[in-house]
Amino acid sequence: MIPVCQKTFLDALMIKKDRVKGVLSRFYKSGGNHPTEKRGGDHRSARYEAKNLSVQWFIEKFKGQESHYCRSKTQRLYLPSGLNIRKMWRMYNNERENDLKVKQGFFRKIFNSNYNIGFKSPRTDVCSTCISLEEIIKNENNPVKKLEAMTQKRIHRLKYKAFYSILQKEDKSMKTITFDCQKNQALPKVPDQSAYYSRQFSFYHFAIVEGSSKAKLDKKNVHSYYWNETIHSKGGNEIISAVYHFLQNTTFDEEIKTLRVVCDGCSGQNKNTGMITMLGKWLYSEAPRHVKKVELIFPVVGHSFIPPDRVFAKIEKTLKKKEVVTCPSEYVNVLKEHGTVIDLSCIPVLNWKKSYETIIKPTTAWHFPFMKSKRFFLTRTKTENIFVQGEVAYKSEINLKKVVTKKNKKITMISPEIVEPNSITPKKSKVVDVTKLLQKHFGTDWRILPDLEFYKNIEERLQGLDLNRFGDVPETLGDDEDHLCEHGFEDVFNCI
Ligand SMILES: [Zn+2]
Repeated sequence: MIPVCQKTFLDALMIKKDRVKGVLSRFYKSGGNHPTEKRGGDHRSARYEAKNLSVQWFIEKFKGQESHYCRSKTQRLYLPSGLNIRKMWRMYNNERENDLKVKQGFFRKIFNSNYNIGFKSPRTDVCSTCISLEEIIKNENNPVKKLEAMTQKRIHRLKYKAFYSILQKEDKSMKTITFDCQKNQALPKVPDQSAYYSRQFSFYHFAIVEGSSKAKLDKKNVHSYYWNETIHSKGGNEIISAVYHFLQNTTFDEEIKTLRVVCDGCSGQNKNTGMITMLGKWLYSEAPRHVKKVELIFPVVGHSFIPPDRVFAKIEKTLKKKEVVTCPSEYVNVLKEHGTVIDLSCIPVLNWKKSYETIIKPTTAWHFPFMKSKRFFLTRTKTENIFVQGEVAYKSEINLKKVVTKKNKKITMISPEIVEPNSITPKKSKVVDVTKLLQKHFGTDWRILPDLEFYKNIEERLQGLDLNRFGDVPETLGDDEDHLCEHGFEDVFNCI
């Protein structure tokens, strides 16, 4: 017998007081036995209902992680790639008594019809355009449609070949850099099954590689910027600031006339006004005078294998062998094996996004189709500004250069403010989840372990904030906003 609040109990179950009284009087009359159901009818659907709720309750225990790409537009939740519906169904049946066990089809139906959940797949070279065109070529009976698909496939192939030949090109008058984000790593990483039910902090790694795709990778030409979500978010400002820092600290030999920047445009953190603004400002105000031109080049969606991906593959191979990672410094040590590491909290992160709002025109008002463009060329004007040229194709050029600043504005007017590190509040629900996870894995005394000081500090930071604010920390603070990208819907679908 458990005492409960009468009003809450009745309201929550939406039943009348008399009903409870009736049940209780029958309970006492029968000498403490549960009364048996005397009415006939439909017991089956009630049993299904119980199973249904039980499955839903199970699925909702899982906590999704932030996705690598474009999460905010798709509102889809992602679970770790090691999981799938079949595995979850097995886990469910293992946890439940016989009367609540379900068939795989039953579980799958609830999973698919009630939730928008995906599994993060490790990035692969499989391109959805290639797959769908190949399917048409294989199965289409109509010769006209078949030929059309074959032509499209050929054009697609020519395009990505053209991209890769640009990436391969080596020239003494040019410096090529490529960059990308690695997929987020979990803090803490523990092998417990309960880690699936728990939110974790994310460790971020952004790599800039010097040299074409032919160049050898070594520690000197791999620059690894790292941080975690309790320090800065993972958005455009952070990425652009890292690239800016790199450019300011790199030497450009006398013969270099062009800086070629190649990056994946998919995440929206790269293909945006902020990146072009920064490159323009750097070229006009800071680049050595012998550097005349900056090229910004994006791959064909689905064919974006660039040098940083080779670095990430090596790192992930090492990380696979580590069952437990608790300290951010353990990830940093792995990065050190492959490159030069830079702590993002030690360099200025600038608010590039805000800096151009009043100075640069919206991309829809530019003199070329921004979203469709694959190559952007920047050159200096004579009047404190830069020309921007956008090209849709990889080989041919329309060659129309214009400034993209608003009336009476110049690129030299760009002066972004500093974004302070630690200015984001860790989400309370996440901190609670992580604390529980640490407790389960390391025991209740986890706070005294020196390796776990990182988590203890976050907890203390949050407690300090709670006292200052006399209230709860809003749940929504944090990363969502930074994933907003300048994508059309088409591009969002392409990303997926
Ligand atoms: Zn393809």
